[in-house]
Amino acid sequence: MELIFEKSRSGRGCSILPECDVPVASLNNQYKREIPLNLPEMSENDLSRHYTELIKRTHGVNDGFYPLGSCTMKYNPKINEEMASLPGFAKIHPLQSEESVQGCLEVLKLSEQYLCEITGMDAMSFQPAAGAHGELTGLLLMKAYHESRGEKNRTKVIVPDSAHGTNPASATMVGYEVVTIPSTEDGCVDLEKLKEAVGDDTAGLMLTNPNTVGLFDKNILEITEIIHQSGGLAYYDGANLNAVMGVVRPGDMGFDIIHINLHKTFSTPHGGGGPGSGPVGCKKILAKFLPAPTVCIGDKLSFETNPESIGRVKSFYGNFLVVVRALTYICTLGKEGIPQASKNAVLNANYMMAKLSDLYQMAYEGRCMHEFVMTLENLKRDTGVSAMDIAKGLLDHGMHPPTMYFPLIVHEALMVEPTETESKETLDKAIQVFRELYQTAKQDPQSLHEAPVKTPVRRLDEVGAARKPKLKFER
Ligand SMILES: *Cc1c(COP(=O)(O)O)cnc(C)c1O
Repeated sequence: MELIFEKSRSGRGCSILPECDVPVASLNNQYKREIPLNLPEMSENDLSRHYTELIKRTHGVNDGFYPLGSCTMKYNPKINEEMASLPGFAKIHPLQSEESVQGCLEVLKLSEQYLCEITGMDAMSFQPAAGAHGELTGLLLMKAYHESRGEKNRTKVIVPDSAHGTNPASATMVGYEVVTIPSTEDGCVDLEKLKEAVGDDTAGLMLTNPNTVGLFDKNILEITEIIHQSGGLAYYDGANLNAVMGVVRPGDMGFDIIHINLHKTFSTPHGGGGPGSGPVGCKKILAKFLPAPTVCIGDKLSFETNPESIGRVKSFYGNFLVVVRALTYICTLGKEGIPQASKNAVLNANYMMAKLSDLYQMAYEGRCMHEFVMTLENLKRDTGVSAMDIAKGLLDHGMHPPTMYFPLIVHEALMVEPTETESKETLDKAIQVFRELYQTAKQDPQSLHEAPVKTPVRRLDEVGAARKPKLKFER
C-alpha cells in the first residue's frame, strides 16, 4: 500500500475556501516558517479511500474478537458516541464562562460522584489523559501528602514483580526509588517479603487487585494495613476495574489513591493512542492536593483552586468528551447493570479458561477474575511452537491475539481477557480456534512458524520495528 505522501499530487486538495473578504492580518516574520510544511495534497475522494484502505488492514473491536489481556477491549456502545457528539458538549470552548457551561460542570461533578461511589473514594480529578498519567498524578498526591507532614525521608515505593510496567516507571518519574517484591507461587503478594520491605522510608505501595495475572489477592486487607502501619499510603492501579466494579471497592480494601481508565472499563474506544482518560480519586485527607481546578457545588457549579493543589497536570479539564462517554455508560448500565457487567466479565474468562485447561497449561490454579494467563512453556519445549507462533496463528482466524509475554513472571505467557460483551457463540468459536491451533502445533509446527498467511502483511520484524523505527517519510 502506498503512503499518503506517495499518493500526494501538488495542487490537489480541498481548496474550497471562498476568497477572503476581511482585511488580511499578516504574521510577524519571526513566526513564519522558512520551509513550506510538507503536507500531502489529495482530493477528498482519494483521502477517504486511503483511510478506508487503512481501516481494512487493521483489527478493531468492530472486526472481531479482541481478547487483549489487561486492555479490556470491550464493545463501546454507540449511544456513548451520540452523547459525546451533542453540540452542547462537543462545541464548547474551554475558556467559556462557567455560567455558560453549567451542564458540562454537572457532567464532571456527577461523574465524580458516581465514580467515587464505585471506587470508595471521596474526591476525583479528571485531568489525567491516560492510566500512566493518572499514576504519575496519584503519586504526586502521595508525595505532597508526605511533604506536608514534613516526612521527606519517605523515598521508596513498593511494587510487586507482577505489576504493570507503568507502575515502576511512574514511581521513578516522581523521583521515588522502586522496591520490587516477589510474588508467591500462587501469584499473590508475599506478605513476609512485604513486611521486610516496609519501613520509615516507605512512601507507599502500588498494587493492582485483581493483579496482572488475573487473581484477586485474598490478603488485601492485611497488605494495606501493613503499609498504613509503616506510615505509607496504598495506591490502587485501577486501570482494569472490569472484574470488580460494583462488586467490591478499592476504598474498602484500604486504598487511599486510585486511578481508573475510563478508556478501558468505562467503554471509550482506545488503542492507537487515545484520547483516553485516567481520573485520579483519593480519600478525604488527600483531596486538597488534587490537580486544580476541581468542580465545587454552590449556588451554581464553579471551578475552585485549592492552595495546596499539586497544580495542573493537563491543559484545562482533561479529555472531557471521554468523561461524557463514561457517564453515559454508567447511566445506561445503572446500579444493577454495573456489577452484572463485572460478573459476566469474570464468568466469560472462567468459561474460556475451563474449556481450554485440558490442553493449555494455566499459569495459576483455581478460578480467575476477568482474565487468565496460560503458559506455553511445555508446548514450546515439546513442539517448538511458542506463544508468539500461536498468537500469529490466531490472526489467520480473524482473531486479535491475547497479550503476549506479559506478565514477565510467566514464561511463554498468553493473557486472555474476553470481556463481558462477547456472546457465548463468539467464545465457543475462539475456544475451538485455540484447540485447533494446539493440534496444529503438535502435527505441523512448521506451519505455525510461518503464520500469519492471510493478513495484509506477513510476520513482521518486531525487534527491528521497535529498535529502528522509521518515523519520518523521506522521498
Ligand atoms: C492499561 C494499564 C495501565 C496503563 O494505562 P494507559 O492508559 O495505557 O496509560 C496501567 N496499569 C494497568 C494494570 C493497565 O492495564
